[in-house]
Amino acid sequence: ATPPVSNFIRSIIEEDNRAGKWNGRVETRFPPEPNGYLHIGHAKSICLNFGLARDYNGSCHLRFDDTNPEKEEQEYVDSILDSVRWLGFDWGEHLHYASDYFDKLYEFAECLISQGKAYVDSLNAEEIRALRGTLTEGGKNSPYRERAIAENIDLFRRMKAGEFADGTHVLRAKIDMTSPNINLRDPVIYRIRRIHHHRTGDKWCIYPMYDYTHCISDALEKITHSLCTLEFEDHRPLYDWVLDQLKDVVPCHPQQIEFARLNLTYTVMSKRKLIELVENGFVDGWDDPRMNTLAGVRRRGYTPESIRLFAERIGISKADSWIDMGVLEDCLREDLNDRAPRRIAVLEPLKVIIDNYAEDSEEECLAPNHPQKPEWGKRIVPLSKIIYIERGDFMEIPSKGYFRLSPGAEVRLRYAYIIKCVSVVKDANGEIMEIHCTYDPDTKSGTAGAEKRKVKGNIHWLAAKHAQQIEVRLYDRLFAQAHPDAGGGGDYKASLNLHSKKITTAYVEPSLSEAQPEDRFQFERHGYFIADRKDTEPGKPVFNRAVTLRDSWGK
Ligand code: ATP
Ligand code: MG
Ligand code: MG
Repeated sequence: ATPPVSNFIRSIIEEDNRAGKWNGRVETRFPPEPNGYLHIGHAKSICLNFGLARDYNGSCHLRFDDTNPEKEEQEYVDSILDSVRWLGFDWGEHLHYASDYFDKLYEFAECLISQGKAYVDSLNAEEIRALRGTLTEGGKNSPYRERAIAENIDLFRRMKAGEFADGTHVLRAKIDMTSPNINLRDPVIYRIRRIHHHRTGDKWCIYPMYDYTHCISDALEKITHSLCTLEFEDHRPLYDWVLDQLKDVVPCHPQQIEFARLNLTYTVMSKRKLIELVENGFVDGWDDPRMNTLAGVRRRGYTPESIRLFAERIGISKADSWIDMGVLEDCLREDLNDRAPRRIAVLEPLKVIIDNYAEDSEEECLAPNHPQKPEWGKRIVPLSKIIYIERGDFMEIPSKGYFRLSPGAEVRLRYAYIIKCVSVVKDANGEIMEIHCTYDPDTKSGTAGAEKRKVKGNIHWLAAKHAQQIEVRLYDRLFAQAHPDAGGGGDYKASLNLHSKKITTAYVEPSLSEAQPEDRFQFERHGYFIADRKDTEPGKPVFNRAVTLRDSWGK
């Protein structure tokens, strides 16, 4: 394998190792909130965190940031575990939940109160917001800010004991209401919420806030480098403040480092929007093959290797930028070009009768399973008198530069003979029903005669007698606009691609009816396809188009 491409985070780690900062330890974490399915943006973070742990002989923790019970569910936990594993990463013994630290977090909050570094505020959310100020205007102290330590401890214990209604009190860190950084204006660190938690049940009616929980969870797990996206740059002073106050009780003070999040064209990346697409039926669930969730791209036909290649290729930096969807698709093409066996599928069949081919005759044509891998061998594709070709490979009145079949013209049937179109049969509406051809018996591929005559067109086909009918789902990009959030008057749903899913019945080589769920193939001249992992039944596969052979979206 090629060595990983360096980046600024690797430089920091290597410098830390030279300076002996962590005694050579590298401990990272991937901390999803279980409030939705993981998407391709998360994959960037997963590959980064697990990749660093792998390359520096450390470990990467998978930690559920489950402090917000109203939006969190076990279904999401399960799907996240499944997706990280599918991507090829292993958290070993380091599967953690922020909720496992609720007791500690509570204890540390009392510790802050005793130091005079936190207080119970009895203003409501509205009043707190009003006093918080704006970017240009400093905040104002709450009238409860100077409560005595003993009173704060008493109130906080009673908050925990369930004596107060939701929203009546909060615990706030006592930092600086005049700070230019709004995150430091006495952020709320605990609130009262009577909500059933998917792991701790009804044990708690107060829950810690993200910023307070996150840094402490990192410290308790002895994380060394806590990597997050750039939006958290302004939260870093709070991360450091909390750990500084608790330096006598937490085991270490991890370093928060920010990197640019993945922005990918032709898609939306926020969980809120993905949930909206699912709940309003714009897609067929979280794992709809058009979704950019990891469950979705998996069903679409993406391989874990292609996603890891993508993460490697886009790199890690401090500057926000957009990555074109074509980059992701190219990674899949590269991976599958190498590993997907070739097969023939006729997606839009047109019947061809070879007039001079004997009625009951049949012969074997040999097609390589991979054009660059002779060791993969060849398969037999039987030829007989009636075959199917693609409708698009015939034009009654050929346009300029069209080298496939038209009346009087010749093409090569791949792995077989040169044929010539002699007549066209239409129905009463002028619709083409079938065409008649003759073949030249001296031109069979692989024989000495094959080179005798050159023709420009080379098309795929299947013998009608052997072709199997299967369902094929032709997927395309879910959005028609590169920046869905920018168009449609701000409504990304106005950018949905109305032609992103087309279901068709195709003819395929007989062996494909034995395809197992998640078997991938290149359908020659069409693209890469995968047997759907949900809807494929024994002997009855359903294929999804993962990606076409070439990018037809332009740049
Ligand atoms: P969303 O904004 O889509 O709701 P989130 O950031 O709230 O996602 P989390 O579950 O909190 O989702 O994310 C877990 C980790 O994944 C975080 O460390 C976060 O920084 C990272 N992450 C999320 N989105 C991206 C992205 N687009 N690019 C890179 N990393 C991301
Ligand atoms: Mg989040
Ligand atoms: Mg977010």
